[in-house]
Amino acid sequence: MDLEFSPEEIAFRDEVRTFIAENYPAQLRGKQDEGDELTKEDFLSWHRVLAKKGWVAPAWPVEYGGTGWTVTQRFIFSEETARADCIRLMPFGLTMVGPVIYTFGTPEQKAHYLPRILSGEDWWCQGYSEPGSGSDLASLRTKAERDGDHYVVNGQKTWTTMAQHADWGFFLVRTDPDAKMQEGISFLLIDMKSPGIEVRPIITLGGEHEVNEVFLDNVKVPVSNRVYEENKGWTCAKFLLAHERVGIAGVASSKRGIEKVKEIAATEIDGDKPLLANPFYRRKVAELEMDLTALEFTELRTLAGEAAGKGPGPESSVLKIKGSEIQQRLTELALEAAGHYGAPYFRGFGEGDNEHPIGPDWAHRTAPSYYNMRKTTIYGGSNEIQRNIIAKMVLGL
Ligand SMILES: Cc1cc2nc3c(=O)[nH]c(=O)nc-3n(C[C@H](O)[C@H](O)[C@H](O)COP(=O)(O)OP(=O)(O)OC[C@H]3O[C@@H](n4cnc5c(N)ncnc54)[C@H](O)[C@@H]3O)c2cc1C
Repeated sequence: MDLEFSPEEIAFRDEVRTFIAENYPAQLRGKQDEGDELTKEDFLSWHRVLAKKGWVAPAWPVEYGGTGWTVTQRFIFSEETARADCIRLMPFGLTMVGPVIYTFGTPEQKAHYLPRILSGEDWWCQGYSEPGSGSDLASLRTKAERDGDHYVVNGQKTWTTMAQHADWGFFLVRTDPDAKMQEGISFLLIDMKSPGIEVRPIITLGGEHEVNEVFLDNVKVPVSNRVYEENKGWTCAKFLLAHERVGIAGVASSKRGIEKVKEIAATEIDGDKPLLANPFYRRKVAELEMDLTALEFTELRTLAGEAAGKGPGPESSVLKIKGSEIQQRLTELALEAAGHYGAPYFRGFGEGDNEHPIGPDWAHRTAPSYYNMRKTTIYGGSNEIQRNIIAKMVLGL
């Protein structure tokens, strides 16, 4: 693997760096620096800047609005956005349902939904998991019964991230109760403003409203909102999950995370020396950095495979496991650096709190982030399930 960037790639990197420096929304930077919770508008503000530039969906085919960048350019772009601490774009439209629609959708579905995903006009959520159907997703029970030119959907979804903001959701529903589990499922696009949909918040350990329960009570969905064939939705579901897992590795943002931890540990005093001089802490940072470098090369190999026309396969499970573990270890190191200053903010620093946080400015986010990041080994298919996939599909056990 040639790891040196060419002069053209360096010029591209500089172009991206300058663009971010000149266009990243100032109010967003301010909120991130303060550790404030971000609103829908905040997330959309960066999305819109990239959409206007034509850079919001680098991996999409050019005909649907992608950039046509090489794999290396895509890598540089994600490195630069992480390096500049840009927020991550919401994945539900851009990296989940978008690719499903341009791969399996009808010409009408492509023409309608894809431009709205790119512009940020539609905010999407993912209605896969149900109470009792998470890892064993194919056991899902939300049912859709055909009634003329529409389906009537009844059931419950759970853990639906950011559904409180969503205009649309992509849902897995059972359309044939008599078929074998995977064979009776369809993939529906549902307008979240449809009568019969109720979204209820679930507040997580860190005090955040990020996930929800979604109840569907006789929701009417036009048959034209089904992607791909009836009862063949599992094909779309699996395709989407493999794409989801690659993005989940979060290599570029973890690299930035390590830099931050090192900056903190270089200034925080432990006894009479900086924390980074403590051999036990230093060793943990070094081990994490080595694991991250190894993960980065694994991701580069996957990207190189993609460039050669190979879709993400079971190896994406390795990226998911290692990437999520590293994300968690990073928050553990940050919380360890904060020590007792992390403790008063286990439930976050709420909106409207007008006290100045005690301790260093960065410390009040460490406990909520530590709790929040416990999710990474659960969502996107839990790490135990990824290990099962590796055992079966990669190792042939
Ligand atoms: C923060 C967060 C956000 C999420 N967002 C969404 C979303 O937007 N949309 C959505 O549809 N879902 C979402 N999910 C749901 C997520 O996909 C599920 O939580 C996940 O698939 C695990 O399912 P479960 O919670 O039902 O746990 P279970 O499947 O009940 O698993 C419980 C435990 O048993 C283990 N386990 C289960 N089966 C096996 C097995 N065969 N072998 C070994 N171990 C096993 C699991 O690894 C886990 O540790 C989100 C979850 C979280 C935590």
